Amino acid sequence: MASTLLINPATEAEIRTIEHTTLEGVDDAVARAVVAQKRWAALAPSARAGALRDFATAVGGAIEELALLEVVNSGHPLGQARWEAGHVRDVLNYYAAAPERMLGKQIPVAGGLDVTFLEPLGVVGIIVPWNFPMTIASWGFAPALAAGNAVVLKPAEWTPLTAIRLGELALEAGLPDGLFQVLPGRGSVVGERFVTHEGVRKIVFTGSTAVGKKVMAGCADQVKAVTLELGGKSANVVFADSDLEKAAATAPYAVFENAGQDCCARSRILVERSVLDRFLELLEPAVKGVVVGDPNDEKTEMGPLVSKAHFDSVTAYQPDDTDVAFRGSAPTGPGYWFAPTVITPSSRTDRRVTEEIFGPVVTVLPFEDEADAIALANDSIYGLSGSIWTRDVGRAIRVARGVESGNLSVNSHSSVRYSTPFGGFKQSGLGRELGPDAAAAFTETKNVFISTD
Ligand code: NAD
Repeated sequence: MASTLLINPATEAEIRTIEHTTLEGVDDAVARAVVAQKRWAALAPSARAGALRDFATAVGGAIEELALLEVVNSGHPLGQARWEAGHVRDVLNYYAAAPERMLGKQIPVAGGLDVTFLEPLGVVGIIVPWNFPMTIASWGFAPALAAGNAVVLKPAEWTPLTAIRLGELALEAGLPDGLFQVLPGRGSVVGERFVTHEGVRKIVFTGSTAVGKKVMAGCADQVKAVTLELGGKSANVVFADSDLEKAAATAPYAVFENAGQDCCARSRILVERSVLDRFLELLEPAVKGVVVGDPNDEKTEMGPLVSKAHFDSVTAYQPDDTDVAFRGSAPTGPGYWFAPTVITPSSRTDRRVTEEIFGPVVTVLPFEDEADAIALANDSIYGLSGSIWTRDVGRAIRVARGVESGNLSVNSHSSVRYSTPFGGFKQSGLGRELGPDAAAAFTETKNVFISTD
């Protein structure tokens, strides 16, 4: 049976081997999920709500355990990993309110009563990348379960440990057998089978734009619903009238968090030309101040890259110090360490400006005026996230409306809250996760007319 040997990215020590699910294993899991879903959907809404709250409580009791798994498997700093595990608990609690609020409509019509029902889809297949293994999984499985579906979940090959543990916690919390199954394995085997299996009625895919396009094309064959959360190359737009000190002090954390392996990373800093030199002066100590090191240390702010293959991919973008303005620090020795790196390319079409590097590398480019800032921010196939720094409220709103992106923040870098919608414009994705409407995305609307004649 195929398997993956997991490696601790901070030490290169072997962790353990995870066996891959076979095609037959996926088909068995889907068959069990089909049965479990029907029973789950037939439960009283309050019973489903209670089961999800119990699941949330079980996750809440395992935060330290889940966090330590993420530290070892993914190299996430401990403080960040604890936040991620707590976020999974919070997402479950938030969507535990949904089963009792799946509201239909009563629509005025002649000759009778017209009502809509939000019916569950059936079995939902969720395919997750390696950068935020447990949080991204929960954005799919919590609302999908809340809406009355069963879930089969495929974690990324390199980072399956927290997802596997979440599957166990669901069972320990009393979720019915077969309702939420975690199936580690290859994208080309398990992931593709989710797409081709007629029993799976929706795919939630988070990952690269290239694979997302294949998944979408595969779903077309069965007119299968699909949500895509894909790549990003988000802009951090800094105007001359902004609080420049705050903009510079926070910019490193908007791109180097999780070692830049973040779809929302603000990896293009765009600065109004008149303050470019001053901004770079302020940015340098902020970048050098990012604490890069042992993920087990509570003070660590940035860990290693996730794997040797990914380290090689990031290094290929920036193999040397050519046009590097400055770098932060990183440990030497074992582990896939890459120091935070700031580059000032001479061209707006440099591939480090246009392509998603997915590592701790940021480009800084000047812009001339508001119109140029919007044009430059939009000069990308992506549109996931972004930040706007200005003290002019009118400008903040104009630019926020002008930038083609799903998640923007003004004078901050926040982008993900479980209670607000998240997703991308253009090739960053299709559909939205999180927020008050996410459970409805896992339903079909059924219209029923009842004659009064
Ligand atoms: P990836 O596309 O290589 O893999 C993602 C998942 O898809 C993995 O589980 C993989 O096994 C699976 N997969 C691979 N081939 C498949 C196939 N043919 N059919 C079905 N599934 C398949 O992406 P990655 O390298 O794991 O993750 C990094 C990418 O994810 C980046 O581009 C990043 O921007 C993106 N991302 C997006 C968001 C978002 O919310 N928009 C969040 C996190 C990551």
